[in-house]
Amino acid sequence: MKTFTEIRALREHLQAERFAAAGKGEDLRVGLVPTMGYLHEGHASLLRKARGENDLVVLSVFVNPIQFGPNEDFERYPRDAEKDLALAEREGVDAVFMPSVEEMYPRPTWTKVKVAELTERLCGASRPGHFDGVTTVVSKLFHIVQPARAYFGQKDAQQVAVIAQMTEDLNFDVEIVPCPIVREADGLALSSRNVYLSPEERKAALVLSRSLLQAREKAQAGGAVTAGEIRADLTRSIGGEPLADIDYVEIADFPGLSPLADTERLDDAGRGADALIAVAVKFGTTRLIDNVILTKKGMA
Ligand code: AMP
Repeated sequence: MKTFTEIRALREHLQAERFAAAGKGEDLRVGLVPTMGYLHEGHASLLRKARGENDLVVLSVFVNPIQFGPNEDFERYPRDAEKDLALAEREGVDAVFMPSVEEMYPRPTWTKVKVAELTERLCGASRPGHFDGVTTVVSKLFHIVQPARAYFGQKDAQQVAVIAQMTEDLNFDVEIVPCPIVREADGLALSSRNVYLSPEERKAALVLSRSLLQAREKAQAGGAVTAGEIRADLTRSIGGEPLADIDYVEIADFPGLSPLADTERLDDAGRGADALIAVAVKFGTTRLIDNVILTKKGMA
């Protein structure tokens, strides 16, 4: 496994690998897994999928300052390069890209990539500018690495929708591969930010997966269950947890993210497209997100 901190060195390495493959008459399929580090099993699942589908796997670890708002947790975001490298090694990563902020943004960036509409809802409404930071850094990574495939977790379902839209609109020659949410045994979705939670908050946070799971079961049990009913159930059960401070409870079509009207049916028979049930909730100072996607075939 090789580690790179400079864009030029990573590019030269990938170019040499592509050249060597071409010499043997082969294509080099590169899989990219972009992360902010402090890696856990959720990230590992992306790496494993990438390992199984590509000749070369690149992991990027970069806490991207431009996707954090002024009052968000950029400074205190957890970092542990040594542990990340050990996990990467264990998952068979070929190249780790760990640039400094100066390497990625030598000067304040004047060029940004912005996806309209999709970024104005859900997390975009409470985190203005967040997705512009995400699409800008992911565009840079796509240009630097030129992957055949890039892997993103459904944990950040809106991010998957936004990146897929950007990829299509800007003709990036990259296949976006969404990966299922990895959860703790008790249901809590893995997140680098879980480390901020006090033991009481950690326990209270289980209300998210519990409520979402119940919502999914209700929608799949048949009967004409509506978006309004599910939204009311979720608001009641999450709102009933004293440590939970709801940012949003949303039901939208996926990946279009248009909100479903309260009267729209969520059961299999009544639904035209996949539906996303997404929540963002604060526990103390920690904002957690979670979701389930109802598909015609079941749930992601
Ligand atoms: P992050 O380091 O939080 O920016 O996440 C990097 C990638 O890992 C993103 O595509 C996330 O959606 C994905 N990811 C984070 N947590 C999970 C999880 N619990 N299950 C699956 N993917 C995840």
